[in-house]
Amino acid sequence: MGYFALGCLCLAIVCSTWTVAVSEDVFPPDLVTLMNDFNRMINETADPCNDFNGYVCPSQTPENSVQSRDSTKTANQISNRLTHGNSTGGGAAVKKYYDFYNTCIKVPSRFDEAALKLTGDLEKYVKQQLGSSSYDSPLAPRQLGNILAYVMVNYGVKIITDLKKQRLPEKPSELKFKNNNKTLYIETPREFLSSRLIYDPKFEKYGDIIKVGLRACYAFVDPTMKDVELNHTTSQLFEIDSRLAKVINKTQEPTSVIRLLEANEASKLMPEIDWSAFVETLSSYSTAFLGNYSPQTLPILFYTPETTGALIRVLAQAPASLLLKYLQTKVVLSLVSINCEALTYEALPLVKQHLYITDSYPTTSDRMNLKSSVSTMVDNVISSVRDMAEQISWIKNDTQTYAGFTDKLNKMKKSVCYNDGLDDPNWLDAKYSDFNVSSDDDFYKLYYKAHQYSAKNILEEKYDPESDVTRWNAFYDPWVNQVNILIATLGSQTYSPNYVPAVVYGGIGSLIGHEVTHAFDTLGINWDSEGHLKNWISKKSKKSFDSMAQCVINQYDRFTIADESGKVYNIDGVQSSGENVADNAGLRAAYNAFMKHPDRSKPFPRPPKLRNITDEQLFFLSFGRFFCTPENPTPNELVDVHAPYKLRVIGTLRDFEPFRKAFNCPVNSKYAPEKHCDVYAPDLTEAKSNAYSVISSVVVSTIMSAFLVFIV
Ligand SMILES: [Zn+2]
Repeated sequence: MGYFALGCLCLAIVCSTWTVAVSEDVFPPDLVTLMNDFNRMINETADPCNDFNGYVCPSQTPENSVQSRDSTKTANQISNRLTHGNSTGGGAAVKKYYDFYNTCIKVPSRFDEAALKLTGDLEKYVKQQLGSSSYDSPLAPRQLGNILAYVMVNYGVKIITDLKKQRLPEKPSELKFKNNNKTLYIETPREFLSSRLIYDPKFEKYGDIIKVGLRACYAFVDPTMKDVELNHTTSQLFEIDSRLAKVINKTQEPTSVIRLLEANEASKLMPEIDWSAFVETLSSYSTAFLGNYSPQTLPILFYTPETTGALIRVLAQAPASLLLKYLQTKVVLSLVSINCEALTYEALPLVKQHLYITDSYPTTSDRMNLKSSVSTMVDNVISSVRDMAEQISWIKNDTQTYAGFTDKLNKMKKSVCYNDGLDDPNWLDAKYSDFNVSSDDDFYKLYYKAHQYSAKNILEEKYDPESDVTRWNAFYDPWVNQVNILIATLGSQTYSPNYVPAVVYGGIGSLIGHEVTHAFDTLGINWDSEGHLKNWISKKSKKSFDSMAQCVINQYDRFTIADESGKVYNIDGVQSSGENVADNAGLRAAYNAFMKHPDRSKPFPRPPKLRNITDEQLFFLSFGRFFCTPENPTPNELVDVHAPYKLRVIGTLRDFEPFRKAFNCPVNSKYAPEKHCDVYAPDLTEAKSNAYSVISSVVVSTIMSAFLVFIV
């Protein structure tokens, strides 16, 4: 209350469909701003049925992307707080955060000096590992294990895996690894995923760019190296990099290959590396990490063992001298994004998150209200997915599948905005009680301190980088059966308690729907309600699921998109199938939740282009805005597990009946083709009416009672 927008009052007079008498001229300023932005973006000359992207976001610049706008705002807020703020009013942990940063910037470090010093330190370590072994021979398994763990902890260089802990794939009681909750998790490193595309034959032109980068990085390692030798070294580095990338650049391994092995068993499977040595080096940075295990017996969970083994073979074949150069190049590369700010976040990420949360929502009641209203939205979307299951015959009529599906939904956990504790200074102080900054520390000491402390906290499960709530992201974790909506995703572009349901459900609601339905996509169906790998879907239902998923695969396989030079690329329907199923089902879940919302028709400001927009149309406008990105996809977008943004919009809307209805699209317009896929679409009502005339009266009465459930 108390807000007044003059523009809206004028609109109320001219807008004949607007009949609410009292509240139409009083809108909260943030809603007015957002609706004006919708208005600015809409291109009325584009036909929504044939070019919805062009209609909703004609100027597809990064600045117009919802995600990019909110992410930039968040990053600036965090940076300003650290570089221009102080610890006044904060607890001990906040003081350490500022002490760390102020100590770090006291003596500025030059990039070339830092590169020399850090890569020199690495050389010393590798020399020490080699002892009397030759630099020209490949590393022994034990040496390779030690060195890969060392670079991961000290430099954040991840060649064969990220540093991560994960839940066991089965209930601990069924295994010899009893009383173990989480264990070391080895999976293809994410930071490598983006560079794999460089070596895809489709993107050959990017190879030259990578060579230039490797050359520039190595020049910092050895500034005295002559050009000819530098070119030769670059070719060798490129060879290793491309071989690693080619290993990763293949279709993901199925979940059936996931292996849980003791370190010594794993070394037998991958004889080129000694996993016990890898574990032992990790444990030297955290005494609590091993618990009751020895480095030989620690259980390790391998998510993609074949890929991991193949990556290791590439490294194990290189002479020690070349591998050292490769790792040094990666250290220089990682140094590009490291400054005192980044090191502070690396060392004390929870303080960064605490300050972001409490700065954005200063009072406890603000934070409680936010959590509770977003939580309700997640519940509404989950309940909408439950309704969907009731209307799909291959789920509803199959006892086993129905039980598994609903059990997974009923037990789905949710982490909304942030976990309790992050807004509590005492909790934070206790968390970082073992971290100290000394006035003698310089950039290098702080560099190692930040990396090692971060690794220690991951190994001891005190921190998981994925849960950093300042990232613009939401995700579903199949290992816990949990949907996570991070607070930074709820920025002014997506969420405010003042926004109307059409805006909120079309945007962030669809994202929530996407994450919830990841539990039931091509990958998600392999995990059960407790996050264990288990087949809960019956063989018969699996056939129905597969034919639904295959339709989506075929549809996206037929999509093409051109890059900025006009080169046309095909989409990999198999690789993106999980995301595409989640996009389709997520939109349906969000739309159904929106249609059931009691405030569905709440009035909103109507600048000129929104004068005749219906609530349903506004829902889809909000959905489309999420994917406003530059017209031509980046190479990253082309090899990502998600389809390029533009295709995510058409791929989803063309399969969704309510969209064509909302915009009155003629049959066979681009966004309303007659032939399309039905993803988790209701079919029971039709099935019943067809069956009605041919089946016995007993069955008819059973079906009729089920039918009544739907129409109530
Ligand atoms: Zn997804």
